[in-house]
Amino acid sequence: MSLRKGLLHTTLLAIYIYSLPVLAAAQYATLPNIVLITIDTARADAMGFLGSKDGLTPNLDQLARQSVVFTRTFAQVPLTTPSHATILTGTYPQFNHLNDLGTALAKDIPYLPDILHQRGYRTAAIVGSQVLDPNSAAVPGFGRGFDFYDADFHSRRPGEDRYHSVERRASVVVDRAISWLNHPGGQPFFLWVHLYDPHDPYDPPPPFHDRYASNLYHGEIAYSDFAIGKLLNKLREQSLFDGAIIAVTADHGEAFGEHGERSHGFFLYDETVHVPLLIKLPQQHSPATRVKSRVRLVDIAPTLLWAAGIDPPPAIQGESLLIRTKQGVITENTDADAPGGRAAYSETDYPHRAFGWSALYAWRAGKYLYVDAPEPELYDQSVDPAAQHNIVSASKAVAETMASQLQEFRRKTSESGSARPELNSRQLEQLQALGYVTSGYGHAAGTDHERGPDPKGKIQVANALHEALLDMEDDHFNDAIPKLEQVLKEEPTMPLANLELGLAWSSQENYGKALPWLRHAAELNPESGRAHFELGMVLAETGDWNRAVSELEAAVKRIPDSDELHFDLATAYEHEERIEDAHQEFLSALRINPDQYRANLMFGRLLGMHGDPLGALPYLQKAVKVQPDSPDGHKFLANIYTELGQVENARREQAEAEQLAAPDKTH
Ligand SMILES: [Zn+2]
Repeated sequence: MSLRKGLLHTTLLAIYIYSLPVLAAAQYATLPNIVLITIDTARADAMGFLGSKDGLTPNLDQLARQSVVFTRTFAQVPLTTPSHATILTGTYPQFNHLNDLGTALAKDIPYLPDILHQRGYRTAAIVGSQVLDPNSAAVPGFGRGFDFYDADFHSRRPGEDRYHSVERRASVVVDRAISWLNHPGGQPFFLWVHLYDPHDPYDPPPPFHDRYASNLYHGEIAYSDFAIGKLLNKLREQSLFDGAIIAVTADHGEAFGEHGERSHGFFLYDETVHVPLLIKLPQQHSPATRVKSRVRLVDIAPTLLWAAGIDPPPAIQGESLLIRTKQGVITENTDADAPGGRAAYSETDYPHRAFGWSALYAWRAGKYLYVDAPEPELYDQSVDPAAQHNIVSASKAVAETMASQLQEFRRKTSESGSARPELNSRQLEQLQALGYVTSGYGHAAGTDHERGPDPKGKIQVANALHEALLDMEDDHFNDAIPKLEQVLKEEPTMPLANLELGLAWSSQENYGKALPWLRHAAELNPESGRAHFELGMVLAETGDWNRAVSELEAAVKRIPDSDELHFDLATAYEHEERIEDAHQEFLSALRINPDQYRANLMFGRLLGMHGDPLGALPYLQKAVKVQPDSPDGHKFLANIYTELGQVENARREQAEAEQLAAPDKTH
């Protein structure tokens, strides 16, 4: 079969046409397998196939030579969760509401895995981070349509490695994807693989860590490419490569000080919004094709459906990037009505959510980038690709046109009628635990344009907080303290910064210094169960059990479903000799988690001490069953058996306790 690639130029767009037998779904014996790989935090300019000279992506570059490469792809939100929602739903954040982190994916929002599943696809997701775990606070509802969703994460416990709690390395993710591929099952399949590695902290494993010691972010990109190479090889080995549609993209890029930003989420410039995208079609149709017109992540879902021969549902807001002409050739789907190609919309309400600053909206159309901010910005990217020279005052008419297009676009694409969901403080705190900064003021719902100070003037504060939170995550409390102090100098009423500074001091066991910050955090955000909890624990450490009780009561009221919290409150009641209250709280903890070791142990002990050895017995038996190597459990149980006159049992438990407590125990 010969391939002829013809090249036509229109005014601004390069259109590639290649005459091939029609690639039509009806002609597939079966629907094609689809593999979607999302590399978190991957800048477009780190990719060899998009012009990087750093040689980080040999495997992706090879794939690109067999793919359609989109050189100008823009994310709709520079944040992991909402951007993946855009990719997987083909809808805009203002429509799917997943821009409100923690909001559940509504059942009536189109969802690529679900659509494919209904067409008979076997579906799997293997993700690299807790922020894409449907059981976490960030993405409830993301499991819809998946037969298998591999995201077994938990919040990091002190001293625990992040790669065994909140995150998995690319090789682990890819190995799990390969084991899913090895598992017999029907075809077609849809496999989504998410690699989190380039997200900070930048910490690639050997040998990438040494090889890229001077640029660890590059090391993460190179490592991700290496892992992707392994997956692609597996597909080739299993003869799955040729027939598959394989798409590779990123949810957002990363800023390294351009425009003052570090990391991503606050601004909408190219460093965080321009992302890679390539799509390998079945039988490597249209190899090495480069589409230079502007495209968007919202277009991926409809394009994949189109390539599989499935009509996208009407609710999908993106459009297929490929079309078939009357002559039966596949070509770039150019948007003839828009001079300069499709416009690309982006937004972030993260500055608002995190600090109460203004949300930002960006509109890329023609040669311009317009940023709707309290001080609006306009860049002519044909002469100023890095967006360094704001020409808004010199080009008022252009700015006004861009602003009204942006407004009109938002009006047309926002979901009408449905109220914006509100998150409760528990959800906000869970998001915080996932690394998303929440202001703690609760979510400001309602208005489209969440206004506040312009983030441009305050980005250094955001950077300091971001770095402080990374320090806190790594237990580097001494490093975090001055950064948090810097944040609080600028934003003294920010509940999160107050809370974290209190935690940093209490982690150093400096309770005197911790107390005022924690108290301030709880006053600023009285609905925060976490603030009351942390304050209560520090008060308990200082021996002020009376005040500790009231704070823990406040925490339990706001977070009623935590067995740990009920346990802590029970312990505080016991200290205050409020035995009946302690009794009730132990029971509450055990109702939520009947297997909680500490609650069984301490409740059994409490009952034993207050003349109810028979009542104590089952709890202590449970405690040693849950944690058989606990000397305390066996010792308390021995005491109970003694009281009950069960001499033999008492002797056995006592011996067990002594053996476990002995320093040279052989267990
Ligand atoms: Zn991300």
